[in-house]
Amino acid sequence: MRISCPHCGERDVGEFAYYGDATKVRPDGVSELEVFLDYVYPRDNPAGPHRELWYHLGGCRAWIVVNRDTRTHEILGVEAARKERKAAPQGAGAGRP
Ligand SMILES: [Zn+2]
Repeated sequence: MRISCPHCGERDVGEFAYYGDATKVRPDGVSELEVFLDYVYPRDNPAGPHRELWYHLGGCRAWIVVNRDTRTHEILGVEAARKERKAAPQGAGAGRP
């Protein structure tokens, strides 16, 4: 299997480490214990397209989200796990009213 890293291009899957389900959303710090346990432990075992979190250990060391069909291992899409920040305005007074 080959994964196309958004930063490095297409690479062998051996360069990547699988982390898990990318659809889980971390609860805020004031959530009940049951909510946090539900975030950490139970996992679905989907057959078909699934969003997964991977780490490019042998490359740029970026976290990426891979949309992969678990039945065929076909990669349907890859994106950075974090969206790029917009560049700060340049120059004195830039961005001020
Ligand atoms: Zn990379």
